[in-house]
Amino acid sequence: MEAETKHYKRVMLKLSGEALANDKGFGIDPEVVYRLAREIKEACESGVEVAVVVGGGNIWRGLKGSQGGMDRASADYMGMLATVINSVALQDALEKLGVSTRVQTAIEMRQIAEPYIRRRAIRHLEKGRVVIFGAGTGNPYFTTDTTAALRSAEIEADVMLMAKKQTDGVYDADPKYHPEAKMFTHLTYNDVLQKQLAVMDNTAITLCMNNNIPIVVFNIDVPGNIVKACKGETLGTLIER
Ligand code: UDP
Repeated sequence: MEAETKHYKRVMLKLSGEALANDKGFGIDPEVVYRLAREIKEACESGVEVAVVVGGGNIWRGLKGSQGGMDRASADYMGMLATVINSVALQDALEKLGVSTRVQTAIEMRQIAEPYIRRRAIRHLEKGRVVIFGAGTGNPYFTTDTTAALRSAEIEADVMLMAKKQTDGVYDADPKYHPEAKMFTHLTYNDVLQKQLAVMDNTAITLCMNNNIPIVVFNIDVPGNIVKACKGETLGTLIER
């Protein structure tokens, strides 16, 4: 059977912080960022409006900081700042490639980026600019997966594209330890919640479920996959109602 291609008008691309990192998963590797930027550029040129949420795990994770004895809220604010560093890195690479972009942050830092204003973000997207949302939701105790779900709902994205490293999609067991693990091509939100599949946190998945936002989990390590995902080609695991 021929795989169905979906035609998206507007997509939300969620990149983990690690997507920007070197092979040790830390810091920002400019070569890696350029590869992502080239793919995002190609997706934009195909006529899709692209919004991006970038994580911060390549620099700092709040939970880990708090486990080390830090106040959780303070540690989470550090994590949100890390996402801004990543957002500016991605913006720089995109602009160098001639792609018009805006970074909008959930915590005001006007010298660096625009504050998050929903209507303005939508206007940028309509004009073909890539909008990168930094600083998460602006609140501690949340994740950038939840941010991506929230912003997807706000900007009415057709889909949330979850770019993952080292995995092609969602499996019934961790393929690293269980070579016989099977990848799902299709799941419902309830499957993910009930089976506690390690896709994203429950807050994010619930938000997608309540707002009927389909999620595609795909492998970012494969060159060309970001373009394919943005163009609606079938890949990875599709999660929907
Ligand atoms: N964070 C937060 N509120 C948010 C989004 C993120 O406090 O709305 C903090 C949290 O500490 C998190 C860190 O920012 O650990 C980096 O985000 P995340 O772990 O989601 O990044 P990723 O795993 O995608 O790289």
